[in-house]
Amino acid sequence: MKLFITCILLLFSFHARTPVANVYICDSKGSKAYHSSKTCRGIKICKHQVLEVTLKEATDVYKRIACKICY
Ligand SMILES: [Zn+2]
Repeated sequence: MKLFITCILLLFSFHARTPVANVYICDSKGSKAYHSSKTCRGIKICKHQVLEVTLKEATDVYKRIACKICY
């Protein structure tokens, strides 16, 4: 039982350390997409600040859809 709990804790700590894949969004009202890369054509035309956020934030908070150029 003790070993089992240790295994669960190890799994959780491993999961927490897994890096989250971030995406890039243009901080403008007209922008509707999130990008996989800062060098994407779609984000290079951004005149506003480029924000690095998690994929979940991009879709849930900023209501962005995947860019057609880099995805
Ligand atoms: Zn893009």
